[in-house]
Amino acid sequence: MSFGSSFLHAYDVNGEKVYFHSLTLEIYNSPEECPSPETEQELLASYRRKAGENSGIIMGCMFLTTRCPRNCGYCFLQDVQHGDMTPAEIDAGLELIGMGPADLLLYGGEPFLRPDLILHVIRRVRSSGARINLSAATGGVPVNTSLARALASEGTFIIVSIDGPPYVHNSARPLIREKNSFEKAEKAFHVFRNAGCRVGISVTVTERNIETVREDFLWLMEYFQPDDMGLNPWLHPLKGGRANPVQATGPRILETVVSCMEIAIDRGMYIEQLARRVRPFVRLIPRLKDCASAGGRLVQVPGGIAGTCDCMTVCGDHGVNLKDTDDVKDLLTLFRDLSPVNFPACITCPALALCGGGCRYDAYHASGVLNGSRPERCFFEREFLRWMIEKSVEHGRESLIPAGGFDISAMPMPVGTMIGEEQSVDN
Ligand code: SF4
Ligand code: SF4
Repeated sequence: MSFGSSFLHAYDVNGEKVYFHSLTLEIYNSPEECPSPETEQELLASYRRKAGENSGIIMGCMFLTTRCPRNCGYCFLQDVQHGDMTPAEIDAGLELIGMGPADLLLYGGEPFLRPDLILHVIRRVRSSGARINLSAATGGVPVNTSLARALASEGTFIIVSIDGPPYVHNSARPLIREKNSFEKAEKAFHVFRNAGCRVGISVTVTERNIETVREDFLWLMEYFQPDDMGLNPWLHPLKGGRANPVQATGPRILETVVSCMEIAIDRGMYIEQLARRVRPFVRLIPRLKDCASAGGRLVQVPGGIAGTCDCMTVCGDHGVNLKDTDDVKDLLTLFRDLSPVNFPACITCPALALCGGGCRYDAYHASGVLNGSRPERCFFEREFLRWMIEKSVEHGRESLIPAGGFDISAMPMPVGTMIGEEQSVDN
């Protein structure tokens, strides 16, 4: 239905019509409250300018090793040749990131298979004085307490991947040579937490566990009491764009995510996926990019290759030689404008200034172009927005904020993926 503005979208909430404006993010009671076409065009132009700004490298991601002791069915690295980074490659990457502020994720594979490289990063970051927030992902391997303490002293945020109670986790994330991967993950969680790190849990939703995710999520929250939880229902395609074999499908994804979000709101749990949608919606601050890969992320994989998207770089797509700094800059420039406000197909979408465009790698494989979209993800974003609109019309926008606000001690969202947002601000 058209109201003379392609940015105005009608919703029926309990029999009442309300109008959501995709640029102002306001909810109006009548279409007459809509800003003028001139104001809309000015807003759109300002968002486009903001999306194209060069904020430098705001996030680094180092695949310290692509080796892993697990064999998770959904891992996008399964067809990738394995290798490890070198200290010289780490130094070259840190040089490009500069003095920050930036986030740096130590990733893999299983990065803790190379504690020496992690220590190297810590020493280099310390000695440079750069403002770099470290985070590291792990599925759980034995970790030396002194390494955990060194990470804690740098304020490192640790993300442990755990998909549920032992019987769920062991089948989703099996070890190649041993049986109990849950036990390894649990030990790692406690080693880091006892050392003083902030520790979050990342849960992957697949076709196999989607029916029990709500109860598994609650169980993890109560059993571990993590500082943050992540819930990822979008699995990346495998190398060459092959569809991920365990991607969950249909409306169950939205139902599952929303039910977990409601638990999180009630219990005051910080969930990145909730925060990155709810904060801009509640504050009326557009979110123009969902991932720093759109021009602000430096990804490094073994072999001296750099890119701006994790999956593309590790799968050998859109990667350049790390030492060729002009090529690195050109690549970041190519990705910088990748925001829905610049995509013709997104202009009439209600989630235009909120979805951030989702994952560029997934959209690229779904559409064949860097500025395309992944239809099932778009459906999810629009329906999630509908849920936020309905909840705020009924109970106010504040009802979307977890009890106690958004915990600032949790993993900060990458600097600059949202315009106007400061990392240090909580609710
Ligand atoms: S675009 Fe997707 S795959 Fe690439 S870094 Fe971002 S979330 Fe990861
Ligand atoms: S949900 Fe999809 S169509 Fe809508 S703005 Fe985002 S990427 Fe574009």
